[in-house]
Amino acid sequence: MDHNALAELLFPDVSKTTDYYENLYPKRDLPEGAKVTRFAPSPTGFVHFGGLYPVLVSERLAHQSGGVFYLRIEDTDSKREVEGAEYDLIKVFENFGINFDESIVREGKYGPYRQSKRREIYRTYAKELVKQGKAYPCFCTEEDMRQLREKQEELKLTPGYYGEFVKCRDLTLEQVKNKLNAGLPYVLRFRSDGNPDNKIKFTDLVKGTIEVTENHIDHVLLKSDGMPTYHLAHAVDDHLMRTTHVIRGEEWLSSLPYHIQLFSALGFKLPKYLHISQLMKKEGEVKKKLSKRDKGAGMSYYISEGYPAESVIEYVMTLLNSNFEDWRRANPTEDTNSFPFSVKKMSPSGSLFDLVKLGDVSKNVVSRMTADDVYNKLSKWAEEFDKEFYDVITRNPDYTKAILQIGRGGSKPRKDLETWKDAKDYMGFFFPEYFEFIDKTEGFNKQDITACLNDFADCYDIDDEQDVWFSKVKEIGEKHGFCPNIKEYKANPDSWKGNVGDVSSFIRVAVTGKLNSPDLCAVMKILGKDESMERINKFKETL
Ligand code: GLU
Repeated sequence: MDHNALAELLFPDVSKTTDYYENLYPKRDLPEGAKVTRFAPSPTGFVHFGGLYPVLVSERLAHQSGGVFYLRIEDTDSKREVEGAEYDLIKVFENFGINFDESIVREGKYGPYRQSKRREIYRTYAKELVKQGKAYPCFCTEEDMRQLREKQEELKLTPGYYGEFVKCRDLTLEQVKNKLNAGLPYVLRFRSDGNPDNKIKFTDLVKGTIEVTENHIDHVLLKSDGMPTYHLAHAVDDHLMRTTHVIRGEEWLSSLPYHIQLFSALGFKLPKYLHISQLMKKEGEVKKKLSKRDKGAGMSYYISEGYPAESVIEYVMTLLNSNFEDWRRANPTEDTNSFPFSVKKMSPSGSLFDLVKLGDVSKNVVSRMTADDVYNKLSKWAEEFDKEFYDVITRNPDYTKAILQIGRGGSKPRKDLETWKDAKDYMGFFFPEYFEFIDKTEGFNKQDITACLNDFADCYDIDDEQDVWFSKVKEIGEKHGFCPNIKEYKANPDSWKGNVGDVSSFIRVAVTGKLNSPDLCAVMKILGKDESMERINKFKETL
């Protein structure tokens, strides 16, 4: 067979050579040790939370080493495409503070960054493989392939185009010509020289050294529409875009023997690989893959629920690196990006997805923010997702910031907010729009409550600090039969009507409408004496 003639016959449209592209996309000019990584999603309109894992690892490895992290849109499968989804995806990641150095909206020198625009490049390399006798056209029809599958199933053999099942490997040039003239569609296949009895060793950066079986299947390189399959595109793109580390989902691990073969056939240096395990969730005692329908499976969930981007990133970091939490304890105020992320600290098995843990992480993250920071982030979220609340909290920014300042800054900051959505419930009572008497002071009689509230109103001084405020409450309580000391009360509950905590809760429910609120003395300073007294009076009427 004259391979050159076959290559010309199949690729009359391809005039460039592979050398042309090798020169066009030279090795990147980066410092020693700099890593080049990428995120290569197929934009289907759904950004899976699991995508954040490879993305964060890629981003950290690149940027920590002074390298490049780029986005490549894998849109060669037109059936799965959703229009505009790639722009949404970029926005979603931007929202989490993840920016791509090169992408479809920020072209670098290694573009196009969209596979559908790289058709000519793939075809140039495919042509070269044909020239070297490493690829051939296959005219098998869908019916042929169906029969092949059935036969292999019946014989319990590995599925695929190989060995005795191969029909088109050795077509003559004449035969190919005739089929082309007859207008028959074809795919281009890789001519595998692998032996399924051979094992090859391969080292994944997280999973370690694994033994895989050589690939002996003549996989498809180009589909009948002339576009590449994932495999060819992966080899050509990651080579020409000079990726040093391929970080991707472990579902690709099984294709690795083929990829190793393909890189070698194309004369490319194999990049380093890191396969990330699937994100699992626990249902009872069983572990399951986090599916698209699960709560929290889509990245947009975290945005609309109002999880601060920092919380989500912090949470994923705790899952990615076993020593992250220790580092955080030692460096409570450092930016996550200063954490020395290490592949060695990654676990080879899958992470468990846990919204409760995310909630805990988030409460800590928010508790460390300044009131200004919380104000800015909260109002940005509310502007998009709760306009009414936005209008309320931005009416008087200083007032809202004073509220957000309560319990912030000390060594034991309050941890009330998990998401921005929680804010309304937490601080709504400060605003007339949301204030209402929700909780009740059950188990106490009206006269006692009223007597305590009246005395409190009489001696309340807005300038009192917490300790003075509280000693007044104690005193009032004791006068009306409420024990000032909890321990003492517990030892002898029958001799009292209640304790100082109960007296506080009368004031609390009157002023905030709820049994739970941040420090009441601080709350009342912000509300102002008039407003607090008015609420106390109104509350007495509800009794
Ligand atoms: N487009 C592939 C996917 O979405 C990319 C895998 C890779 O990172 O190489 O799974």
